[in-house]
Amino acid sequence: MAQLARRSGVLITLVALALGSTASLAGGAEPIPRPTPKVAVIGTGGTIAGVSRTKVSFDDYQAGKLPVSRLVNDLRPEVNRIAGVTTQQFGNKDSNNYTIPEYRRLTAAVDHALKFNDGVVVTTGTDTMEEFAYWLDLTVRSDKPVVLTGAMRPWTVVGSDAPANLYNAIHLAASGRTTCFGTVVMLNDQIHAAREVRKSDTLRLNAFSSGSSGELGVIDQNHIRVNRAPARVEQCGKPGWKTPFDLDRIARRPLPKVDIAYSYQGAGPQAIKAFADAGAAGIVTAGSGAGGLSPAMTEARDDAVKNGVVMVSASRAAPAPSTTPMCAASSAPRA
Ligand code: GLU
Repeated sequence: MAQLARRSGVLITLVALALGSTASLAGGAEPIPRPTPKVAVIGTGGTIAGVSRTKVSFDDYQAGKLPVSRLVNDLRPEVNRIAGVTTQQFGNKDSNNYTIPEYRRLTAAVDHALKFNDGVVVTTGTDTMEEFAYWLDLTVRSDKPVVLTGAMRPWTVVGSDAPANLYNAIHLAASGRTTCFGTVVMLNDQIHAAREVRKSDTLRLNAFSSGSSGELGVIDQNHIRVNRAPARVEQCGKPGWKTPFDLDRIARRPLPKVDIAYSYQGAGPQAIKAFADAGAAGIVTAGSGAGGLSPAMTEARDDAVKNGVVMVSASRAAPAPSTTPMCAASSAPRA
């Protein structure tokens, strides 16, 4: 009975709200116009800014050629209806050619742009987009939307995914729907979390996937459908939302060198040994299955640990992080 009373209370509230909104619309109240969101697009290069030899040379093109202002201007006037867009050319090159000091400057550029805008879009090459995304997710201090996009086909071929990806990324950033999500990646109409996404195909347009976690949502023209959110959203507005990686408080000297050693059938000790001898502070192993290494690699790992190298065991099978048991091997302080 008490439950029924509570339910009818909810229903009465719903009906009252519905009637109230109808009444105010019927009463002629004008909807309050929402100011056009401001979005900054920061260009770093990649295929999205690529120029092809002909209209149909899908794979024969030069990446990082067109200025980001040209890309955005090609989307006008349509894009003006969803956002007031400004552009900034951070760089124009292959994503593989960026360095960690440049990553630090990119974080500063994104945080600066977010002081004056409602969201930021960063265009990059797709090869290391997952590194760009994860870095920004860890280091940007603002909780406003940061959306990374790129393309699998250059801007200038028929059927390029580049203009649609850029338009959708601006739309997503302007919508505010990923506020407090950290950095997200938007390609092929899909929204991915920076922590989960990886490039999983070399050529197809659906080159990005979030493994068994699946994408966060999709964009279908005017409809942005967000089905789940990264866990950090729960800390939105609280100090715990920010990661500990505040670059203003991390010394400007080079960050410790960390390398990746890949395991395979019969893998020798050479890779781990060479990285350790070259001064790596840490080495991540991409092991088989749940992190297995060949006997020779295991021995090299144990030697490296004795010498103070931090070893972290991961899997080359790389399922989505939420289902991956990652274990950190023991480490001794460096002598
Ligand atoms: N290798 C180039 C890069 O990562 C082009 C790849 C791409 O953007 O799809 O910048």
